[in-house]
Amino acid sequence: MKIETEPAAALRKRRNALVRRLPPLKSILRGSLIERYKRCGKPGCKCAEGRGHGPKYYLSVSFPGQRPQMDYVPKETYPQAAEFVANYRRARDVLEEICAINRELLRRREGL
Ligand SMILES: [Zn+2]
Repeated sequence: MKIETEPAAALRKRRNALVRRLPPLKSILRGSLIERYKRCGKPGCKCAEGRGHGPKYYLSVSFPGQRPQMDYVPKETYPQAAEFVANYRRARDVLEEICAINRELLRRREGL
């Protein structure tokens, strides 16, 4: 529904619902998980033919004006890390929606 056409009471109600959709905020990771395959360079290793050993997983996190930072993610931690990354994105989207509602209330000179 379009924010501009919703009554203020409905917006505040929606805001409450959004807060309840927030993931646990200690369980978040910003970034993306990427897969890497590496050739080890040992003579005669079969990896020389294919794409290399792997997959190995890394968390890539970008910072303004810097190259992305990469952190190794052990295989056994991958499922949890993936969940944390998804949580972060959901939290970010929910916060963005709450801010949009609050901006709309501000424009209408309604109480926040
Ligand atoms: Zn190899």
